[in-house]
Amino acid sequence: MKIGLFFGSFNPVHHGHLIIANYMATQTDLDRVWLVVSPQNPLKPKKTLARDHDRLHLVRLGIDDNPLLKASDVEFQLSKPSYTVDTLAFLTEKHPEHQFVLIMGGDNLASLHLWKNYEQILAGFDIYVYKRPNYELGELAQHPRVRVFEPPPLDISATYIRECVQAGKSVRYLVPDAVWEYLESGSLYR
Ligand code: ATP
Repeated sequence: MKIGLFFGSFNPVHHGHLIIANYMATQTDLDRVWLVVSPQNPLKPKKTLARDHDRLHLVRLGIDDNPLLKASDVEFQLSKPSYTVDTLAFLTEKHPEHQFVLIMGGDNLASLHLWKNYEQILAGFDIYVYKRPNYELGELAQHPRVRVFEPPPLDISATYIRECVQAGKSVRYLVPDAVWEYLESGSLYR
């Protein structure tokens, strides 16, 4: 199968992420999309980053029973910090039956040239880029491995959601109901 890999901290997952994932799974030639939860980067401040398994659990709740989407914890077992080039190599070896494609926002494409071994990524993998309002794609948009898509934009961020939860404000409708209920009932981000 042709699988799109959508990497993120998903702290927490929200409808912006899920709209992109579902769009890519249904309106491109991808068969499935995996939401790859990136682990806590030991070099980054942990203060507002929920534990790996909480974020994974929320992604699972958010996906619900959609058979086209899957939450992946593959990076939890790889050495940290996780570099996309290494995760791609690992997955390719582990799943020779699949073809992997990288999904990223236009904001990320513009800084892709700063990633570890980005040329190796481009040599081996297609990149499906979704345009985001107010972000330029940069020169790599012309690269033969890059395809650009325009899903409907939804301007919400996990940062905003964490701030709401912290302030005791409702995040209902910004995240799937099951994620909202989990956030309401627990102590995450408070
Ligand atoms: P934070 O606010 O904590 O930085 P985030 O909402 O941007 O988080 P990430 O988990 O870092 O979430 O996002 C994973 C990927 O999804 C990133 O490449 C990011 O650019 C993209 N993304 C996040 N929010 C949206 C959105 N509303 N629409 C489209 N893409 C998004």
